[in-house]
Amino acid sequence: MTRKSAKILNPSNLSKSDVYEIARMFAEKFKLSSGEDLRQIVQKMNGTIEVGASFEDNDASGTLFINKNGSFSISIPDHTSIERDRFTIAHEIGHYILHYIFNEEYKNEECYTANRSGSSRIEWEANWFASELLMPEKEFRAAYDDLNKNLYEISKKFGTSELACSVRAKSLGLDE
Ligand SMILES: [Zn+2]
Repeated sequence: MTRKSAKILNPSNLSKSDVYEIARMFAEKFKLSSGEDLRQIVQKMNGTIEVGASFEDNDASGTLFINKNGSFSISIPDHTSIERDRFTIAHEIGHYILHYIFNEEYKNEECYTANRSGSSRIEWEANWFASELLMPEKEFRAAYDDLNKNLYEISKKFGTSELACSVRAKSLGLDE
């Protein structure tokens, strides 16, 4: 099956708090600590990461492709920052877990795909997952206080961009 005929995944319609909970379970299962590289986890999940792939959708900053047997590959561009790639990888893992693993009917049927692009429901869900995976609410709140709201220091701790940290702070109501 070619990549073009892969089916597009659908949103889970889970609440934000349910998505956070799933991200925490995932982090616990793989014993993920803050700032840790995600590549080894992708490998353990039978996934690969391809750098420098060309994207059909020019706005996409990452793509997920799932094979019939459940193995998958995440494609990221070659010109983006480590922090951005990290968030993209977490986002694509979010699609894999929320929209493939948690959806029984998808398994072993077809090839599936999703990307990091746009702002539809399925993209929010993958972003919620990525935010909680990389910047867990509890740890993020504590770090925000400990590091005196210094976004540079916070971004170093979590391995995410300052922009991602600022968005996370806003979404947790910390920046008022
Ligand atoms: Zn996406």
